[in-house]
Amino acid sequence: MVWSPGDQIVLREVWDGKLWAVRPVTVVRDDPELIALYLPIGTAWKRPKKPDDSMIRMPSEEWVLSDDIWRGKSVLHLITSGAAHAVWAMWNQTREFLGWYVNLQEPVRRSRVGFDYMDQMLDLVTSPDLTSWRWKDEEELDEEVQCGLVTPEQADEVRREGDRVLELIRNKASPFGDGWEHWRPDPTWPLPGFPEGWDRVDLSSR
Ligand code: MG
Repeated sequence: MVWSPGDQIVLREVWDGKLWAVRPVTVVRDDPELIALYLPIGTAWKRPKKPDDSMIRMPSEEWVLSDDIWRGKSVLHLITSGAAHAVWAMWNQTREFLGWYVNLQEPVRRSRVGFDYMDQMLDLVTSPDLTSWRWKDEEELDEEVQCGLVTPEQADEVRREGDRVLELIRNKASPFGDGWEHWRPDPTWPLPGFPEGWDRVDLSSR
């Protein structure tokens, strides 16, 4: 299943066969080189919470999906085929480019309603011109190891993937040097919504 520009699908985080987060997105591009998916400000999405409605950061205890509205930044997810990260290009409400965010995550798997993966905690944040950058949530990755959610070896692989992306940033390599910061969404696109079957996890995605 290959998606077409304008299709509304869901980008889902799945942990142990259970939905952790669900973000409706509009397909910008889906080809063997690149998957590009757009999540605009104002989109309704599902985030995890503890059953008592308090915040939860990792799937180390019981959670439920809770309704929320995506705020603060519109995000274009750029996913290179097979890569264990997504590059986010981000804009504010007035379409000012905010910079890049590298989300380290499992390579995406295709589902009947979009793409599935699980976040791997560690992130990289850069300035709009790529001249400065910083790690984010390093301690959360350590905490995941302590909780037994990932092995120390898996955590090392996440850090190595981060180092590889850092090289791309330093060299302004693809997708950073491809001009995506000037991209604009089709003004006729409505906010993405949840497709039929968004809450069913395929066995292949467990
Ligand atoms: Mg992350």
